[in-house]
Amino acid sequence: MSHECASEPLLRVMALHALTYCERLFYLEEVEEIRLADEAVYAGRRLHEELAVDEGEIVSLVLESETHGLKGKVDCLRRRDGRLIPYEHKRGHAAKGEQGPEPWPSDKIQVSAYVLLVEEYAGCVIEEARIRYHADNVTVRVAVDDVARDQVRKAVARARELSKSVERPPVTDNERLCVRCSLAPVCLPEEERLAGNPEWKPIRLFPRDYERQALHVTEPGARVSRSGNTLVVQAPERERRVFPVHDVGEIVLHGHAQVTTQVIHLCAQQDIGLHWITGGGRYIAGLVAGTSPVQRRIRQYEALRDPGVAFRLAKRLALTRGASQLRFLLRASQGMDRAAKGVQPAINGIRAALAAMSHAEGLDTLRGHEGEAGRAYFSGLPGILRTDLDSRLMFTGRTRRPPQDCFNALLSFGYSLLHRDVLQAILAVGLEPAFGFYHQPRSAAHPLALDLMEEFRVPMWDMPVVASLNRLQWDPDQDFTRAGPQVWLSDAGRKKAIEIYERRKEDEWKHPVTGYALSYARLIELEVRLLEKEWTGQPGLFARLRLR
Ligand code: SF4
Repeated sequence: MSHECASEPLLRVMALHALTYCERLFYLEEVEEIRLADEAVYAGRRLHEELAVDEGEIVSLVLESETHGLKGKVDCLRRRDGRLIPYEHKRGHAAKGEQGPEPWPSDKIQVSAYVLLVEEYAGCVIEEARIRYHADNVTVRVAVDDVARDQVRKAVARARELSKSVERPPVTDNERLCVRCSLAPVCLPEEERLAGNPEWKPIRLFPRDYERQALHVTEPGARVSRSGNTLVVQAPERERRVFPVHDVGEIVLHGHAQVTTQVIHLCAQQDIGLHWITGGGRYIAGLVAGTSPVQRRIRQYEALRDPGVAFRLAKRLALTRGASQLRFLLRASQGMDRAAKGVQPAINGIRAALAAMSHAEGLDTLRGHEGEAGRAYFSGLPGILRTDLDSRLMFTGRTRRPPQDCFNALLSFGYSLLHRDVLQAILAVGLEPAFGFYHQPRSAAHPLALDLMEEFRVPMWDMPVVASLNRLQWDPDQDFTRAGPQVWLSDAGRKKAIEIYERRKEDEWKHPVTGYALSYARLIELEVRLLEKEWTGQPGLFARLRLR
């Protein structure tokens, strides 16, 4: 066997393991370079560490072969009856064969590949490898004959072929493999099966919530530094606050808070998002670590350059946002005299705009009707605010840059927080935020982030902010500052808004199509992944969120 193209990088033996398990897993890990360490992966690493301590025989031999085009780390090499035998340790169970425990196909190809590497290294012929399955406490012998060697060669060739493709292989037919797959939250196999078969009852392989929290630094003059595996926030005249790194998913610097270079490096290494927002709430920039998988961006460009695809997605998005606006007004005005409150005309206006949108045949027409829905929605908002609210907190119309009253200051600030989360999710998924399908690249904001925000503005900010106003949580003197006609949130107001927003992110919502519940924070990422499915797999699941 010879490595066909010496200029090609060597394949990891573990990549052959992934390829045999599921071709899509190989592609995600090796081509798109997505690797997520879940509990099973950590447990596997722990096993190897413990074995290294317990068993003096662990060799952990790192080998490379240009001939075979492979590289890998052999767990253990033992000499039995004068013969060298590579051993591999597995945490789980062996496969159940008719004659007793058997190796799984992916494990078999892995140890066969190790045999080839060890043969070349040691200059001898090896006919057998062994796999220790610790959950069963059994060792299985694997004969490495001509058939096994041929399987390795074919797997290497298939891996090279897949590496050149920009198309992700389809999800596996064997859904039991997905339950144990660490990349299920990225691959979304159940959602893809649902898109292809509306009768499918998906199980939730996507984590319900993030384990790591957002750290907002709002105090003027605050500084974030690193001390070992902790982040330290020191603000003038405030106590020093310390956060373990593994509890933080993103750092958001408001205003002129400072961050050290060591923290920037740490964020890049540990996949912690770092975002800068002005004191007025405008998003400036963000840093999200990770590779930039070009295959995804090529697919995104190819898909969204098609005006038909872009229009279809824009229409679904506009209809979803309009439907949320309508549902919110209907819910919030339940039991009210809608006509007297001025909510009914708004409801009628959104309904008419939604009907017109569903017949729209071009982007400009769609934008026109979406604008009508938006104007109708905002005209109805004053009617769902309590009548004894301080008049300075009342809503009289949308003003954006800059906001000119308290209500608009609240809306703008919350949308800025939302923009940050959507952008973080887009970058984490590996899409290009500058290339959207609905918004034009006019401002500093990224068009794709603006597109995706449309789905979340109402449930993630308009609803909680109206509820907080109706609970009389806002003080127009303490929570806002004024500069001429412009109104911004004060330090106290920013803290309050962040608290409301972050609490909202933790609320759970049952996805109307997949049927499982997850937090809003996870929902954003799920929607980005479902958007990508519009051009990588089964379309039809993106932008189907509905308020009940
Ligand atoms: S989740 Fe299933 S289809 Fe997706 S990579 Fe894993 S095993 Fe393959």
